[in-house]
Amino acid sequence: MKFMHIPFNKPYLTGKETAYITQAVESGKISGDGMFTKKCHQFFEEKYGFKKCLLTTSCTDALEMAAILIDVKQGDEIIMPSYTFVSTANAFVLRGAKIVFCDSRKDHPGLDEDLIETLITPKTKAIVPVHYAGVACDMDKIMSIANKHNLFVVEDAAQAIDSFYIGADGTKKSLGSIGHLAAFSFHETKNIMSGEGGMLVINDEQFTKRAEIIREKGTNRSAFFRGEIDKYGWVDIGSSFLPSDILAAFLYAQLEHLDDIQNKRKKIWDIYSAELKHLANKIQLPLVSEFATNNAHMFYVITKSLNERNGLIECLKINNINCVFHYISLNKSKYFVENNKVVIDLPQSDRYSDCLLRLPMFYELKESYVKKVCAVINQFYSSL
Ligand SMILES: *Cc1c(COP(=O)(O)O)cnc(C)c1O
Repeated sequence: MKFMHIPFNKPYLTGKETAYITQAVESGKISGDGMFTKKCHQFFEEKYGFKKCLLTTSCTDALEMAAILIDVKQGDEIIMPSYTFVSTANAFVLRGAKIVFCDSRKDHPGLDEDLIETLITPKTKAIVPVHYAGVACDMDKIMSIANKHNLFVVEDAAQAIDSFYIGADGTKKSLGSIGHLAAFSFHETKNIMSGEGGMLVINDEQFTKRAEIIREKGTNRSAFFRGEIDKYGWVDIGSSFLPSDILAAFLYAQLEHLDDIQNKRKKIWDIYSAELKHLANKIQLPLVSEFATNNAHMFYVITKSLNERNGLIECLKINNINCVFHYISLNKSKYFVENNKVVIDLPQSDRYSDCLLRLPMFYELKESYVKKVCAVINQFYSSL
């Protein structure tokens, strides 16, 4: 039997999206901060213990807001992994920062926490850990380094919805609730989505008031709508970072099914894990550290070489399965090399660029298809 094409991703609709969009439209209030935006904020604050949430039009926007909030100035240094999406870096570059790339861990693409202190200088302003694949960085370690050196921590939690960090004392904290600020993404490739979308989480109250202003084009319009002031005007820099309530309506439909979506993704992830674990001596499989939980954002394998990955991609393609690699280390990007006139080698980050391969992972992926993907991978390695 020939299997149908297995795509890498397929956005899942829970069923209520268009009904809620209609409701938003009919309410007559379709700009930002309407009823559905408030429902989403409340949902996140209650479920994950975030101090204050603000929906944005993307995670990129939320990161840009974070860079403004911590007052990044020309020449400030920001430490982040090199194996990440461009927005993690761009948000800070836009404010004149110098990006200082930290290599990844050997056992996981997240940044190597033990290297952070070697990169700190008097100009360092912030650490931006990325919870790759939704798996927590060692946040106790990162927060204690940040406190010791008086640095801000902005969590790039784009992939980390419904994922937790387990502290040394056993307490479980949601990712995004630990750093001073955190940014989430609701892009259609993430577990919970609204097409394009994002959220800034503010855990340090000193930023709350200004965050509202920056998000509303540098005006104190939010305070005006709450009746706290009698007119609003230009009080700070800012931009239009808030999404229409139509997008929030879509997102809220997803949130109502969050537990179901998560359970389903974890089931798929567990099948991959069970079917591939005997290959552990041939390929590196995803790590969920002892201090992390798994939100099943991604299942990936790491080959021994670029050549081997090319072969595996080809073999999957012949079988109608679409698998994709991920980031090209930002230290090797055209923009970074041209602007910094240096080529830095980050052995782990470069290795993930060459060897990491993401397998299909989406709500509607059938169990038989997951097994087919694994069978093809097993066959590939049995012939190697
Ligand atoms: C998806 C992603 C982003 C960007 O999210 P957008 O909502 O598309 O702006 C940023 N960082 C990481 C790590 C991501 O995975």
